[in-house]
Amino acid sequence: MTRMRHYVLLAALGILAAIAQLVPTRWGLVGDLAGGLLAGVLVLIGTRVLALEIEKTYLLPTVAAVASLSGVTFAMTGSDVATPHLAWTAPLLAALPTGITALADGVRGRRCQLCRTPLRRLLSFSCPRCHLVACENCWQFERDRCCLCEANQIPLFPLDISWWQQRFGAQVRGGRCTLCLRAADGRVAQWACVGCGHAQCRPCWDENNGQCSRCGWILPHLPDEASAHGVAMPASPPSSKFLAQEDSRRNADKRGVRHA
Ligand SMILES: [Zn+2]
Ligand SMILES: [Zn+2]
Ligand SMILES: [Zn+2]
Ligand SMILES: [Zn+2]
Repeated sequence: MTRMRHYVLLAALGILAAIAQLVPTRWGLVGDLAGGLLAGVLVLIGTRVLALEIEKTYLLPTVAAVASLSGVTFAMTGSDVATPHLAWTAPLLAALPTGITALADGVRGRRCQLCRTPLRRLLSFSCPRCHLVACENCWQFERDRCCLCEANQIPLFPLDISWWQQRFGAQVRGGRCTLCLRAADGRVAQWACVGCGHAQCRPCWDENNGQCSRCGWILPHLPDEASAHGVAMPASPPSSKFLAQEDSRRNADKRGVRHA
């Protein structure tokens, strides 16, 4: 579902909520207030059932309140009976259900954007490929990417050939990729390492986060999150477990061992 569809569905929920507010207004003040609460609950349940991903959490109580306000206003303009002042608290009631859940989520803290586990006691990483924040269980330490990017083979670098030419100069013609041994046949571009001159194909450069498998040279000007060693920066302070894993990784690098 695209982001736009989430917002369109939220707007549709808002219209439903306005109707849920409008209909019970015929039963006076009790109807107004019950309608407000109903509108709020409808938006809350609707977003859960439709699995709407609305990043700006304040939008949900706002939509519920505006829907309720429209319902009450519409009922007021269409009726000769004076609306009691207390009826204007209905939008506040409508904002309560989603407002309280948003507040509770805020208090509970940030969550892993992949498995939704709270990050309070976990390490978290900003994935340089998809830019999501992943908890340590969703993070592939040896691969410097989240498990979603690993599963879907999301590239780190752009495919645009001029991006590569700016960093490597001319393509390598002839010979084979040092890693996968694929021949430079014109279909997959190969680029020579600036450090040692050995060529790697584009997928292998990407696979290794821009690092040469031979000499450890790293592509300059890596995307923001990819640090000097091609490692995504921890979004929370690194634990001793992480540091130990990093140490063994660097030692493996020095011995020329390639990560699986
Ligand atoms: Zn996770
Ligand atoms: Zn990722
Ligand atoms: Zn290769
Ligand atoms: Zn090299």
